[in-house]
Amino acid sequence: MRIVVTGGAGFIGSHFVRQAVQGHYEAFTEADIVVLDKLTYAGNKANLASVADSPRLRFVEGDICDVRLVGELLRGTDLVVHFAAESHVDRSIAGADEFVRTNVVGTHTLLHAATETGVRKFVHVSTDEVYGSLENGAAPWTEEESLRPNSPYSASKASSDLLALAVHRTHGLPVCVTRGSNTYGPHQYPEKLIPLFVTNLLDGRKVPLYGDGENVRDWLHVDDHCRGIALVAEGGKPGEIYNVGGGTELTNREVTDGLLGRLGMDRSMVEHVADRKGHDRRYAMDCAKITDQLGYRPATSWDEGMAATVQWYTERRDWWEPIKG
Ligand code: NAD
Repeated sequence: MRIVVTGGAGFIGSHFVRQAVQGHYEAFTEADIVVLDKLTYAGNKANLASVADSPRLRFVEGDICDVRLVGELLRGTDLVVHFAAESHVDRSIAGADEFVRTNVVGTHTLLHAATETGVRKFVHVSTDEVYGSLENGAAPWTEEESLRPNSPYSASKASSDLLALAVHRTHGLPVCVTRGSNTYGPHQYPEKLIPLFVTNLLDGRKVPLYGDGENVRDWLHVDDHCRGIALVAEGGKPGEIYNVGGGTELTNREVTDGLLGRLGMDRSMVEHVADRKGHDRRYAMDCAKITDQLGYRPATSWDEGMAATVQWYTERRDWWEPIKG
């Protein structure tokens, strides 16, 4: 079996690759894995250092928009797991060109090549942000919910979801879409809330909390997110969407207070900053479908996951200091 993992040097993609190479996914213990990654600011080959010597792993530095390269790589491939994306909302607000290019044109390039070369399964990794923003108290989104993306990032992801599902309907490519919630864990680029706040606090610097701090996110440990994706890769029905959540809804203020408490600090370390433009209020997903059909359940509790994450950033200054510097 041959798997192409796009964005396999990023945060979530590299976790998936490490787990797959180390034999954590039964269906893929024998598979050869090819990582295709452009090594943008968010990509880091050091994320794959622990498995770099595996004869089952090959790394290709390249762009998912490169028609020739993608066509060559996908020939003879059984499974594509597509993580590669521009992934940070704030950057998409500052400028969305790369988001449209990578997330929309890049996904189209992969889908086209996968159709031409007869790839047997294509897992498109997407996000709960495509659903828009939810009022407090409203029922969590199911996969049937309409898409109402609000940021250029989520609009580009929603566009790629629609392309992926359209290629399934039109050309019969066996596509599944996963929509994961806010993911945290080791190796996450220190621009997203948890790694930014942890590394700032470890350096004795204040953390910037947007607006009133009451925006709610559903937090998902990267290990659970990747297991959900692996379950969909193995048993997901072509043409279907699967929500992958963590079942831990918290406000940004609650996350911040938790981090301060863990590091023995108080709210004097919080700097209140103007709210993000168009900031979605709440994300929450109903994950009954992947639970009932594929047996998914988040296994990492918030306390356990946060303790391990804070410990990792505490111990791995060698990983994040050069990036922040
Ligand atoms: P990340 O920013 O850490 O990594 C993205 C990776 O894609 C990097 O290695 C980068 O070099 C690579 N890449 C970017 N543009 C490329 C291109 N044109 N060609 C080839 N490679 C390219 O992102 P992440 O947080 O690991 O997210 C991975 C996927 O999961 C994304 O599709 C994202 O939308 C989705 N997702 C993320 C979260 C989250 O909380 N981080 C939640 C749900 C879904």
